[in-house]
Amino acid sequence: MASTRRTFLTQAAAIAGTLGIGARWNQAWTHPPRVGINPVVVEEGQAVMTSTWNHGMLANDAGFQALDAGGSALDMIEAGARLVESDAEGLSVGIGGLPDRDGNVTLDACIMDHRGDAGSVCFVQDVAHPISLARNVMENTPHVMLAGAGAEQYARELGMPVTPLLTEQAQLAWERWKETSNYQPIINIENHDTIGLLAMDDQGRLAGGCTTSGVAYKMHGRVGDSPIIGAGLYVDGDIGGATATGLGEAVMRTVGSFLVVELMRQGASAQEACFEAVQRIIRSMPTEDLQVGYLALGKDGQIGGHAIHSGFNYAQHQRSGTGAPIESVLIDASYGGR
Ligand code: ASP
Repeated sequence: MASTRRTFLTQAAAIAGTLGIGARWNQAWTHPPRVGINPVVVEEGQAVMTSTWNHGMLANDAGFQALDAGGSALDMIEAGARLVESDAEGLSVGIGGLPDRDGNVTLDACIMDHRGDAGSVCFVQDVAHPISLARNVMENTPHVMLAGAGAEQYARELGMPVTPLLTEQAQLAWERWKETSNYQPIINIENHDTIGLLAMDDQGRLAGGCTTSGVAYKMHGRVGDSPIIGAGLYVDGDIGGATATGLGEAVMRTVGSFLVVELMRQGASAQEACFEAVQRIIRSMPTEDLQVGYLALGKDGQIGGHAIHSGFNYAQHQRSGTGAPIESVLIDASYGGR
C-alpha cells in the first residue's frame, strides 16, 4: 500500500514537474510536439466558416478578414468571436450580456484547434474578450480551463483591462426581471444567443470557439455547456467540429458536441450527426420547453445544423473558388424529432 502511494506521489511529482505546477505561470509555455495529426490539404480557396445565429454573419466576415490578413482557422475563430463579444447591444455574449440573478455578468468561452489543443475560461467577470483569454490558456499555459477569480487574475497578468460588462440596457432588463424574479430554466430565442463558431482554413485546418454570457438570470456561479470541451464545442482535426447553443444543462448531460463529432467519425454527415444528437436529448428528457441547436462542420467542408424547436439559424460563409467572392448565407436550421 505504502509503496503504491509512494509510486503515485512520485508519478504525481513527475507530472507536476512536467507541467511546471508549483512554479508561477508567467512564462510562455511550449506545447510538447504532437505527432500523427496532420491536416489534410484541401484545394486552395476552400476555406469555410459557420457561426450560430444572426450575429454569425458578422462574425464570419471578421473571420474571413483575419484569414485574408494571413491568419489561420484559429485566428478566424478568435476574430469572429471578438467581434460579437464587443457588441454592447447583444444581450447574450460579452459586454452587454444579461446578468445572473444577482446582477453579475459572468462569461464562459472556449476554443479548440485541429490538433486537439483546447483552452477554456468560465465564470469570468470584467474581461471583455474571454475567447482571447481562453486562447491564451490553450497556447500559453499547461492547462485547459481556468475559472473565476483565477481566470481573471490571469487576464490581468496578460494585461487585459478590467472591463465592466453590465450595460444600462442589461441592467434595466435585470431590474424588470427582478419584479417577478421568475426564473424558469426555459430557453427562448431572446436569451440563448451564444455564438458558436467553426472554421476551416485554406490549409484544411479546423478550429472552433464558443463564447457566451450564459443563460440570463442564472444562479450566481452557474456554468453552462459553452466552456466545456465536448459539450459546447468539440473539434477533431481529422473529422470535423461541432458547437451547441441552447440550454446548456441538456447539452452537458449528453456531451453533445463530442457526440456530434463521434457520429461524424462513424460516417454520419454533419447534418445527420446534428439531427441524431438532438434526438439523444429528445429521447432522454422532456423538451417541450427547452431549446438546443447543434451546428457542425465536417472535414469535407459540409455544414449541418439541427435544433429541437424551430428558430435556430446559422450563418455560413464559403469561398466559391480561388479569388472568387465569399458567399454569405443565413440558414434556418431544421428541427424536431423523427
Ligand atoms: N448554451 C448557453 C448556456 O447554457 C446558453 C446559450 O446558448 O446562449 O449557458
